[in-house]
Amino acid sequence: MTYDIAIIGTGAGGATVARELSKKGLKVLILEKGKRYPVGKSVNHIKNIQMDLKLDLINENKENYEFLNYPAELMYIEDLGGTTPVSLANACYACSNCYSNSATNQFKIHGIDLFKELIDASADLKVSPFPADLMGPATCKIVDAGENIGFFMEPMPKFIDFSKCDGCGLCINGCKINAKWDATHFINEALENGATLISDFIVTKINHNKKELTGIEGISGDEIKKFKVKKVILAAGALNTPQILKNSGITENVGEGLFCDLFITIGGYIKDINFNKEIPMGVKSEFGPYFLSPHFSNQLIVLLKNKGFNANPEDVIGIMIKIADEANGKLNEDKTITKPLTERDLGLLKEGYEKSEKLLVEIGVDPSSIVSTHIRGAHPGGTAAMGKVVDKNLETEIKGLFIADASVIPQAPGRPPILTITALAKKLANNIVQDIQLKKKTKI
Ligand SMILES: Cc1cc2nc3c(=O)[nH]c(=O)nc-3n(C[C@H](O)[C@H](O)[C@H](O)COP(=O)(O)OP(=O)(O)OC[C@H]3O[C@@H](n4cnc5c(N)ncnc54)[C@H](O)[C@@H]3O)c2cc1C
Repeated sequence: MTYDIAIIGTGAGGATVARELSKKGLKVLILEKGKRYPVGKSVNHIKNIQMDLKLDLINENKENYEFLNYPAELMYIEDLGGTTPVSLANACYACSNCYSNSATNQFKIHGIDLFKELIDASADLKVSPFPADLMGPATCKIVDAGENIGFFMEPMPKFIDFSKCDGCGLCINGCKINAKWDATHFINEALENGATLISDFIVTKINHNKKELTGIEGISGDEIKKFKVKKVILAAGALNTPQILKNSGITENVGEGLFCDLFITIGGYIKDINFNKEIPMGVKSEFGPYFLSPHFSNQLIVLLKNKGFNANPEDVIGIMIKIADEANGKLNEDKTITKPLTERDLGLLKEGYEKSEKLLVEIGVDPSSIVSTHIRGAHPGGTAAMGKVVDKNLETEIKGLFIADASVIPQAPGRPPILTITALAKKLANNIVQDIQLKKKTKI
């Protein structure tokens, strides 16, 4: 069998190009490292990798900020659908008027207007604002308290079909009733359109003659397999795409410029608040390079218990502070991650922490119960950035090798990136289809 194009990875980027190109009748081969697993337990598939924050600043601050006392972690998934099945369905892109790293703004600098694709992607993912009738009592308390202290609270845009959603609040487990979009939906469509999926296939390198692509190499079980193909879309995610590029001899700027939208969740004790049963992150309050949003984390329970509070999951309320961190991280040769915490980033986390503390106290949380999780990241990107590794058409220095995942985003958006990745992937698919059509016309 010969293929027009091979796609590596089935996350937000890979699944979108697979769907779009198969819809146009192209013969698409999809290679995925992981496999399909039953929905409902996605959270158990999360991989955590430690980040070395180079803690120069930390000793001066760690007494006052508990989140500096533990190692930082980055989360991702390697399975069908990539990291999308655990997403909380947040679909931010509409902050272009308030923050310069937004999807539309940061790509305009490179000569790309993503506005139309963002609108189209929103329609495909059925994005709509979180509806008031699904807002639980604890989230309502956060909204009221926020407004009392002058924070503007707005509904979070979500890729949830709210006509199906039963409000269980377990989005992170993968949606059993398919109300939440994830990338497996697009893979299923691609398969219906005739695409071929080979899972449990680890792509190791791209073969090329320094100018043009010749094929792909990878491991399936114990066997090394090769495919001859003239176009490849690499969408293995911001942690794996650089690895494949480096194995293929493409090294300049690769694996550098890592950001991950660093976040912490701070919380406290209120008996029987039942926040854990509500849809997470239903609202947000924007503060330029960071935002605050209601967030439950199991880690808060452990931290409260350590502080002497007899907390059950029903007794915990929390706020996430998520920042657009500096794109200063690096994937090292030994697969470790260095991500120095800069003075600016620490300042933003501290600012958000203090605002959230005020908010929790306004809700009625006992100030002595306030605890904070360690620093985490869940939006890795920037490691094969536009302008450095790919051009504005998402093509690398090797003709025919494109990238369509979070690694091409140059700067941290500080907002959930799935919608942006989907829009970029749609743009790439449209360009490829137009290019093929043009070549056919020229031949005629
Ligand atoms: C808990 C959590 C909640 C989140 N919530 C949200 C949210 O609400 N909204 C939002 O926008 N974002 C959210 N995110 C972030 C979002 O899920 C990711 O940023 C996004 O899915 C990344 O997409 P991607 O296409 O770059 O890559 P990925 O989703 O990482 O997909 C990469 C794919 O490539 C495959 N792969 C890797 N290596 C190879 C190889 N060598 N060969 C073949 N295949 C390979 C992987 O298995 C995977 O399928 C969340 C993340 C986490 C962890």
